[in-house]
Amino acid sequence: SHRIMLGPLVAAIDQGTSSTRFLVFNSKTAELLSHHQVEIKQSFPKEGWVEEDPKEILQSVYECMERTCEKLTQLNIDISNIKAIGVTNQRETTLVWDKETGEPLYNAIVWLDLRTQSTVERLINKTPGRNKNHLKHKTGLPISTYFSAVKLRWLMDNVDEVHKAVVSHRAMFGTIDSWLIWCLTGGKSGGVHCTDVTNASRTMLFNIHTMDWDPELCKYFGIPMEILPRVRSSSEIYGLMKSGALSGIPISGCLGDQSAALVGQMCFQDGQAKNTYGTGCFLLRNTGAKPVMSDHGLLTTVAYKLGRDKPACYALEGSVAIAGAVVRWLQDNLGIIGSSEELEKLAASVGTSYGCYFVPAFSGLYAPYWEPSARGIICGLTQFTNKSHLAFAALEAVCFQTREILDAMNQDSGIPLTQLQVDGGMTSNRLLMQLQADILCIPVVKPSMPETTALGAAMAAGAAEGVSVWSLNPEDLSEVTSEKFEPQINPEESEFRYARWKKAVQKSMNWET
Ligand code: ADP
Repeated sequence: SHRIMLGPLVAAIDQGTSSTRFLVFNSKTAELLSHHQVEIKQSFPKEGWVEEDPKEILQSVYECMERTCEKLTQLNIDISNIKAIGVTNQRETTLVWDKETGEPLYNAIVWLDLRTQSTVERLINKTPGRNKNHLKHKTGLPISTYFSAVKLRWLMDNVDEVHKAVVSHRAMFGTIDSWLIWCLTGGKSGGVHCTDVTNASRTMLFNIHTMDWDPELCKYFGIPMEILPRVRSSSEIYGLMKSGALSGIPISGCLGDQSAALVGQMCFQDGQAKNTYGTGCFLLRNTGAKPVMSDHGLLTTVAYKLGRDKPACYALEGSVAIAGAVVRWLQDNLGIIGSSEELEKLAASVGTSYGCYFVPAFSGLYAPYWEPSARGIICGLTQFTNKSHLAFAALEAVCFQTREILDAMNQDSGIPLTQLQVDGGMTSNRLLMQLQADILCIPVVKPSMPETTALGAAMAAGAAEGVSVWSLNPEDLSEVTSEKFEPQINPEESEFRYARWKKAVQKSMNWET
């Protein structure tokens, strides 16, 4: 029967900024058998604030699991073949909950949130030489609103319930991975409070050399270490599912979403890279067993550690805050499109921005600038400009931001990338992919199975000691098919547009100061 041919199955929870998914893969072929997806509400209670409801996030995970199991049963696939579950998640997003009641004490503060801008500026002003890279030698990161430590500090200073829970030893801090694993393994009755090295490396409390929480960093941000989760590798059994149809199945993989995509794209060799186009856009390049510090505004981050006794692998990362988020903004705030799919048609109807440049610096600018005071601008408008040109400029903005990161990456490593492997929700936009190849002047390669983030987490879960249904050897997987977009415009045209973009970026900076 179908069941015998399938072999063991491995699943992944993919908890992103805009949606939650649960996906089930065949561990022999990496084929996606079934999945379900639920959108996540974002709230913007004040200008620059971005929050999500931790209970809604948890509920969405349960709903996706249930619906996926129903779909598998309809396909006549036995869910008892699922041997392991991996977790991959939006990184940095910060929450605190009460370990006795199991209740979150505030909404999750989403990575994009800017409420800590003044705190960050104050911290930087206190460092010798006003150096935002003051903690980079330990963390690989600049002091920025982006990472968890300042968000956690804000929660402790501004939310009475959080403060009280901390002083009465009832508080647990976590990024989304920790929250989900704690809840799914039993919550207030015995849940496991842990995180993996990749998620930990985005908190600014983690030392990427010692691979542990750093007492000095915790002191710097005033964070009591007892509220932190235990740091584990990205591939080991953390605990078992406590309830529902999948009860008893080990949760044995955990990777931040960008690390998971790197694994899912099989970038295991030093020098291999991928770019993921979701809410933001993240280009990661594997640098092997040693952390490489960037001279061009990139982050140094833990890529993965696939087993307790396995070595850690590092990556250089270029992070862009706003990519798909600009599409949602055009839809929700301007109303010029009814859905993200409509954007492509609208932009393709003109095929040019007609000299319009759109810098969507809604959350300041991340790599390579790290400028929290930047704000979005649209420039180069004429009487002729219409919404189609604006749509086109929004897509181009994503491509130009990637170009800036790729240039920084090439300068840091000295070895230019000759093609770019891509994935993420926005890559279903073929116009975007073609524009990206045109603006980078190198081919863009997209796998035919787009769920590489989930695949990476599922692979980590399946490869864990005590599960071992999945080898992490790329050759063992049946051939990965992909689609290639070749550059179609001449490099001079590309350089001209890129130079204009850079001028527009300069105009977006120092807006608030
Ligand atoms: P995340 O993991 O950050 O939640 P996804 O990888 O799921 O993100 O991608 C979702 C993002 O991609 C959304 O911001 C959405 O607006 C954008 N998106 C999805 N489809 C398209 C499309 N056809 N064209 C442009 N943007 C798209």
